[in-house]
Amino acid sequence: MDVLTSTRAVVKTALERLGYPDEVYELLKDSIRMLKVRIPVRMDDGSIKVFTGYRAQHNDAVGPTKGGVRFHPDVTEVEVNALAIWMSLKAGIVDLPYGGGKGGIICDPREMSFRELEGLSRGYVRAISQVVGPTKDIPAPDVFTNSQIMAWMMDEYSRIDEFNSPGFITGKPIVLGGSHGRESATAKGVTIVINEAAKKRGIDVKGARVVIQGFGNAGSFLSKFLHDAGAKVVGISDAYGALHDPNGLDIDYLLDRRDSFGTVTKLFDNTITNKELLELDCDILVPAAVENQITAENAHQIKANIVVEAANGPTTMEATKILTDRGILLVPDVLASAGGVTVSYFEWVQNNQGYYWTEEEIDEKLHASMIKAFNTIYNTAETRRVDMRLAAYMVGVRKMAEASRFRGWI
Ligand code: NAD
Repeated sequence: MDVLTSTRAVVKTALERLGYPDEVYELLKDSIRMLKVRIPVRMDDGSIKVFTGYRAQHNDAVGPTKGGVRFHPDVTEVEVNALAIWMSLKAGIVDLPYGGGKGGIICDPREMSFRELEGLSRGYVRAISQVVGPTKDIPAPDVFTNSQIMAWMMDEYSRIDEFNSPGFITGKPIVLGGSHGRESATAKGVTIVINEAAKKRGIDVKGARVVIQGFGNAGSFLSKFLHDAGAKVVGISDAYGALHDPNGLDIDYLLDRRDSFGTVTKLFDNTITNKELLELDCDILVPAAVENQITAENAHQIKANIVVEAANGPTTMEATKILTDRGILLVPDVLASAGGVTVSYFEWVQNNQGYYWTEEEIDEKLHASMIKAFNTIYNTAETRRVDMRLAAYMVGVRKMAEASRFRGWI
């Protein structure tokens, strides 16, 4: 089952549990807009390569759509569509005045030069410029995109708009209107929910054994936060393999050696596979890379007490059931990784008001928001006797459904 089909199934169940009629599902099962674009880029060897990209806008009943842009060879229209739905759910969970959006380009930035990446980033903005903007749809970073790419995109949009438009995109460098705390926001949010989940399970994060899949933006900051909090990070990975040390890895050394794409394992001989990593003995497992990593095939072998999804869609529906039945506390992606969009929202608010907050102010607001969201969903799961994913979807879908109803769409 692909990620879109499984997402739709959970959305449908959530709406049924909340008592909404079928039309609401008919509206919310798909993006209201899906733009496919073709982007010609002159490569360094003089040839022209034409890339395919997408921008999905799931639902804008609550407010403008918002969501990252992914540069990855495996991007598909189906994946971008599912990612946009998840963004809508996240916005509902942390109560932001947004709907969900998402973008993606089929490319491998690891094989491209800086100049080629700039051409691709600017070409993408030109191609989608008519449907995006600070009051329409606001992009952000995602897998293999970063603050430099956001800066090029913002500059290109500002040229088209003939106005400096920092509120067009979030995840920018601070000097261009980025927010303090945005770069580490996703990991900070994950850290907050890990602490809450650990309390529920009577686990002390200090001394807990943690495994993190992915060493990019989300995974690397998370490893640092947990390491500094006294946890023992016993495993990390990237796209090429994984590292394991039951006594705890030297996180500061690994952070120092990782490249900008979150690659570090290539420097070592004694690696294990990503599959082996997920099955390591640990207390807390955090998938922070890509989709479909915990499936019906390996869910029975997961040894963690708590699984916290920093990545979008790392656990299949079948695996969600297996983990829940085994008594493992699964904190779903739409809750666990909502810290990124929360601080992106703070960045957009600061851009709109032209007045900037300190990192302490951002941290305080993020903390309050994540704790509230975790407890609302945990309590919903308990009282409704549903798993945490369904509880999160029930909480996340409600505002969007209500807004669509008040507007007279359904
Ligand atoms: P990133 O590009 O910074 O890092 C991705 C990491 O995953 C790298 O270490 C890379 O080597 C690894 N990876 C890539 N393909 C892999 C594969 N097939 N198997 C194993 N590892 C692989 O990306 P990120 O921003 O850290 O995003 C990671 C996840 O977190 C994604 O699912 C993303 O959607 C989600 N997320 C990110 C943010 C954000 O603000 N960056 C916010 C919410 C959710």
